[in-house]
Amino acid sequence: MNGNSQAGTVSLVGAGPGDPDLLTVKAIKAIRRASVLLVDDLVGAGVLRYARRSARIVHVGKRGGCASTPQAFIHKLMVAEAHRGETVVRLKGGDPFVFGRGGEEAEHLRAAGVNVQVVNGISSGLAAATALGVPWTHREHAHGVLLVTGHAGDSVSDLHWPTLAAAAAQGLTLVVYMGMQRLASIRDGLLTALRAETPAALVQHASTAQERRLVTTLGTMVEDAAAAPICSPAILIVGDVLRAVVTESAKLWTSSALTQA
Ligand code: SAH
Repeated sequence: MNGNSQAGTVSLVGAGPGDPDLLTVKAIKAIRRASVLLVDDLVGAGVLRYARRSARIVHVGKRGGCASTPQAFIHKLMVAEAHRGETVVRLKGGDPFVFGRGGEEAEHLRAAGVNVQVVNGISSGLAAATALGVPWTHREHAHGVLLVTGHAGDSVSDLHWPTLAAAAAQGLTLVVYMGMQRLASIRDGLLTALRAETPAALVQHASTAQERRLVTTLGTMVEDAAAAPICSPAILIVGDVLRAVVTESAKLWTSSALTQA
């Protein structure tokens, strides 16, 4: 039985953007201790090398559009395993509390009397900016950063993109998660307050061997993304911080070669 309490503990652990070298020491320790790991789709395979051989690994993918494990089932499984005294790690891509339902999972666990420990991970939006070699908040270009989802959940009303565009025009970098399926409508909304020449970049599979980076402009990003092609999972970054890497025409980088798209 777990020593902390009769009800057990679940650790919500951030697996980072994919590169196992970007795991935190605390995440590695938690993964090593786990007897049961419930693993999201976006967790890099290399991360699981730290799991014990005897650990039970359950893949509970939540990829939009594909067959995925219902959230209610994940909730039930976490609680059941914790109550049985297992050392449970819920391994989530990036940071557990940056989108991806970590908040809901923590609430559910606490309501069931289960202790919750949260271990930060490097969020993919941060890894995407670093892959491009730009800071979110370069002092000469941006006063802050907005992290937004391009795919609002059922309980969140749709974001008002013109308002976000106005904020970006004031010198905020926009970092959009889960935006690929609605890239055209995001572009249309942003063009209400941002110029078509505003730099935009997409980074797919940031920090992994499959990483692809497209640096382009807001006006042409949809066509350039289709041509590249760049698809989910990817991060969209919009803002002047990208000026340093934007050239006149769109550029596509893959991890193996530098190619002009
Ligand atoms: N908690 C995660 C985000 C979960 S939402 C984090 O902090 O990163 C899922 C979205 O994250 C995807 O649709 C995609 O936009 C983004 N994402 C996750 N991993 C990624 C990666 N390696 N490269 C680019 N985007 C990624």
